[in-house]
Amino acid sequence: MFDLKGKVAIVTGGNGGIGLGMARGLAGAGARVVVAARNQEKSRAAVRELEKAGGQALAIAVDVADEASVQALVRSTVEQCGRLDILVNNAGINIRKQPQDYTLAEWRQVLDTNLTSAFLCSRAAYPPMKAGGGGKIVNIGSMMSIFGASFTPAYAASKGGIVQLTKSLATAWAKDHIQVNAVLPGWIDTDLTQAARRQVAGLNENVLRRTPAGRWGAIDDFAGIAVFLAAPASDFITGAVITVDGGYSIQG
Ligand code: NDP
Repeated sequence: MFDLKGKVAIVTGGNGGIGLGMARGLAGAGARVVVAARNQEKSRAAVRELEKAGGQALAIAVDVADEASVQALVRSTVEQCGRLDILVNNAGINIRKQPQDYTLAEWRQVLDTNLTSAFLCSRAAYPPMKAGGGGKIVNIGSMMSIFGASFTPAYAASKGGIVQLTKSLATAWAKDHIQVNAVLPGWIDTDLTQAARRQVAGLNENVLRRTPAGRWGAIDDFAGIAVFLAAPASDFITGAVITVDGGYSIQG
């Protein structure tokens, strides 16, 4: 039910943070994992770590905001691994500023990296998944898929969009046995949120106070959900939006 042997997975942003946590899960369940990100030194280190733990992995450079680069990623994956079964659209950035201070270039950078990227990667992955008899796409949203915040207008718009894109892809591709689901992380300790802790006063205290689990999430909290949504165990689950947040979003 949770066996991924013989499956090939692309994890965008798989060289660190939540993406690496998911890559660990997928490789541990037997999938061959393509670590897809820009920083090749970081990607090679992630591949070494996954291999050392007994998994199969390789690094392919990509800029998810660039259409040609995304197409090359999928082409190269199929050339090197023979197939593509699982896509995790995880790469993401944030620029924290009040809406009135946002430039159009900043807005586009966040939307391109967080939302358009998921469309580009999913569209590129569709033909090999369909040819292989089906597939699994996991899109990473955020608490900002549900809530808003004054300092994060483009990020919240992109993460809200991820949920609706998920539902549309799920509807379109169910007939091809491709399930598309979204994971909404709560507050997770990564490079992204280390920066947020420096930029947003009181964030650490607010996260600890509001999260019923009483802690920040760790990247290994994402290994299980990645395996579940990539495995036959979730074959009748599509278009779902699953929070992995220690209860943050259900606290009244
Ligand atoms: P990190 O900053 O640790 O990781 C971001 C990853 O995205 C890196 O691997 C980075 O690799 C990659 N990336 C960024 N831009 C691009 C690009 N243009 N092309 C390819 N890869 C890119 O952040 P997190 O692990 O925290 O975030 C991962 C995802 O989880 C994001 O979508 C984020 O929005 C989401 N999330 C995180 C939360 C948290 O609390 N940490 C909460 C909710 C959602 P490289 O720089 O090498 O390209």
